[in-house]
Amino acid sequence: ELFMPVRPNSRGFDLTHSQTLDDIDAVRDPWKTHTWKAGALLAGKADASGKESKVINPANPSDSPGTVVNATPADVDTALKLARPWSDPLEDRRAVLNRAADLLEENYGEIFAMLTREAGKGLPDGVAELREAVDFLRYYSVQSTDTPPAGIFTCISPWNFPLAIFCGQISAALAAGNAVLAKPAEQTPLIAHLAVKLMHEAGVPKEALQLLPGGGDVGAALTSDVRINGVAFTGSTQTAQRIRKAMSEHCAPGTPLIAETGGLNAMIVDSTALPEQAVQAIIESAFQSAGQRCSALRCLYVQEDIAKDFTEMLIGAMKCLNMGDPWNLSTDVGPVIDEAARKTIADHVRIAREEGRVLAELACPSNGTYVAPTVIKVAGIGDLDREIFGPVLHLATFKADKLDKVIDDINATGYGLTFGLQTRIDDRVQHVSERIAAGNIYINRNQIGAIVGSQPFGGEGLSGTGPKAGGPNYLPRFSEPDVQTSSQ
Ligand code: GLU
Repeated sequence: ELFMPVRPNSRGFDLTHSQTLDDIDAVRDPWKTHTWKAGALLAGKADASGKESKVINPANPSDSPGTVVNATPADVDTALKLARPWSDPLEDRRAVLNRAADLLEENYGEIFAMLTREAGKGLPDGVAELREAVDFLRYYSVQSTDTPPAGIFTCISPWNFPLAIFCGQISAALAAGNAVLAKPAEQTPLIAHLAVKLMHEAGVPKEALQLLPGGGDVGAALTSDVRINGVAFTGSTQTAQRIRKAMSEHCAPGTPLIAETGGLNAMIVDSTALPEQAVQAIIESAFQSAGQRCSALRCLYVQEDIAKDFTEMLIGAMKCLNMGDPWNLSTDVGPVIDEAARKTIADHVRIAREEGRVLAELACPSNGTYVAPTVIKVAGIGDLDREIFGPVLHLATFKADKLDKVIDDINATGYGLTFGLQTRIDDRVQHVSERIAAGNIYINRNQIGAIVGSQPFGGEGLSGTGPKAGGPNYLPRFSEPDVQTSSQ
């Protein structure tokens, strides 16, 4: 039913092409020592009143890419008073969102440098992230309709996709005609500030898009006010639960919360799987982006019959990964986001090491907040009581006749985000896909990097409320409640 005009996805860059790499370097390098400044962007008022702090490069604590002046709860009140839904005609709004996508693409040098120095992301991750941000803007612009907006939408985004998810939430809320109050993750205000500046430059009115960088106090103010008509949140399950509670106490009943949260994602490799393909998929799923994706593989199940050889091959492949500064293209695994994250993950690995369960781990660079890719032996996914958000893979084996028990155990975690299966048996694909409770199921490939429009992304249970981002059901949830009901 949905009319979908042609909307090509962003082409990105071919990083296997040396001339392309030289071209990227030429525009990225000038930003290597730049110092950015970020702060609140309130319509009609320049600065926020909070205190200034330094942003730290996770790969190198002596490099500060910039400073941020955080907003305060009083600034949230100001923003709420100034906020106005975006009432321009539909065709104008669409053109502006597309122009914003063009501006992001044009500023790729600055964006790649920022993604590396603020978020520790290497060029391959940076390219994927820029493409996803651009795709979201164009996708929601195509999908937008004339239905009335919800009103004022709060968008709270995570540091692991500081551009893509930030732009995804905002562009959906804007495409539906809302006024947006956006709070980026505390760790990544610089890239958010640039994105909002570019959206304003493209023509999004300042009253329709305001930026409120800050911490928990700003987040609380943005989710516990009766003037808020909806909240889009991506982050931890625990924070989503806190937001739900605050909204139930302070917002009008029925105010929508669209939450995309954590995962305890599994992959099953049976004895018919193609080993080389499975190993590559596992390395990418567990260690790309230093494992800092909610879609990342956390617990791998290998059929016992092949486990010995397969584990050896997997660990051999892991040992080929280069850890280091993500500014260099030879780096495969960069740092985790900050010292708090490093400590949490390192503590988890330390306990496993003390218990003699570490099968393999790489050596860490000494500078920066690094965690080495590690494989930890577990009896099953039930040994994990929470998501470990880093490059740590847990490995279990299963007997051929216990596949259904493995599926039950995976479902019993209560999470349901991504799942991977490596097998050459068609009936098994059918059977496992039907029984696994997960939002995104990937067969014989990696389980990260969902593409806007073709692989709508989102989970169930503890992993989120739905609807899936980058899919046809997302945008209607940002409209007035009557519209949402009639579109279901
Ligand atoms: N959409 C991303 C992916 O498919 C993950 C999003 C997230 O980590 O929040 O890899």
